[in-house]
Amino acid sequence: MSETRHTKVLIIGSGPAGYTAGVYASRAMLEPILVQGMEPGGQLTTTTEVENYPGYTEIQGPELMVNMEAHAKAMGTEIIGDIITDLDLSKRPFTAKGDSGTVYTADAVILATGARARWLGLPTEEEFKGFGVSACATCDGFFYRGMEIVVVGGGNTAVEEALFLTNFASKVTLIHRRDELRAEKILINRLMKNEKIVPLWDHELVEVFGDEMPKGVNGVHAKHVKTGEITEIPAKGVFIAIGHAPANELVKDTLETHMGGYVVTKPDSTETSIPGVFAAGDLIDHKFRQAVTSAGMGCMAALEAEHFLAAQED
Ligand code: FAD
Ligand code: NAP
Repeated sequence: MSETRHTKVLIIGSGPAGYTAGVYASRAMLEPILVQGMEPGGQLTTTTEVENYPGYTEIQGPELMVNMEAHAKAMGTEIIGDIITDLDLSKRPFTAKGDSGTVYTADAVILATGARARWLGLPTEEEFKGFGVSACATCDGFFYRGMEIVVVGGGNTAVEEALFLTNFASKVTLIHRRDELRAEKILINRLMKNEKIVPLWDHELVEVFGDEMPKGVNGVHAKHVKTGEITEIPAKGVFIAIGHAPANELVKDTLETHMGGYVVTKPDSTETSIPGVFAAGDLIDHKFRQAVTSAGMGCMAALEAEHFLAAQED
């Protein structure tokens, strides 16, 4: 039989935005429920060193997120391992269905579902996903000890993944569609100094090829964006690091979105177009997409939820 749980504030997502919202909503005595989703701890659990979260010169991403979870719990947030599969925002209390069968009703909702890795959309990328093609170096890098690897992208994620993969790989080819990286300077400097990394500028990955039995990647074909010339690069692992798209599935038909699916909030606010529904973190942020900015927005969302609920009682 399905259980129904009521809460004043339902927080959906367990990244920096969700856990920070939990800390603030708990301290406002709102007894929030936080549903973690399929990736407890969010994106930072897929990385290694985090060097730009204030208070830590360097901390492993998963450790930072375990600390945040413990903090939210210690303040009184009830943390539940469930995935929200359906969200009805048409009337209050709002209703969310969990994959577990539990139904959550809430006077206010904080959406903190973050973002997910983007893919190139090539048929051969899809064919070899899980068999040599990955979007998570920390998860899968270990399998490629002593082998050649390709990384695609030119942002912070691509550069960090390329650097991390040199711990295992004999050579890392970084394929980027321009001749300039958008990653931070400190990361670019590290990349340029690393002798195992070979950048391939002005190229786009056009095909992954490999064997069927046993299934596995043998290399990629990359096309020069100006000349069209095709280069073959041998590789056993292919890591796609071309950015992230907002995880808006629950609300894309009910809330206004912009800039490729990011939820729209009011200026200087986490309020969405539906009163009582707040959104924070990478779900609304097409610009900064950092752990600290997500945490900041989680704080804002909890404070705004508190004001909203207080106004309902007047
Ligand atoms: P996320 O961290 O994306 O978390 C989203 C949460 O929502 C997850 O817990 C997920 O399970 C949950 N969720 C999604 N759908 C549902 C659902 N239907 N039901 C319930 N829950 C759901 N930033 C930095 O500041 N410093 C760094 O060094 C850094 N390194 C990074 C390295 C990598 C490889 C990546 C990918 C990102 C990195 N970032 C870094 C960016 C940072 O991770 C994000 O900005 C931040 O995690 C966003 O936080 P968030 O809380 O908005 O969402
Ligand atoms: P990003 O900054 O959006 O960069 C995506 C990269 O992929 C860009 O270089 C882009 O090329 C390229 N790209 C996009 N679509 C492509 C396609 N179809 N084909 C080929 N290349 C494509 O994404 P990100 O690196 O994942 O970073 C996301 C956010 O997380 C950023 O805000 C970043 O700062 C943050 N982050 C921070 C850290 C850190 O602080 N250490 C680490 C990781 C991530 P162009 O450059 O040509 O557009």
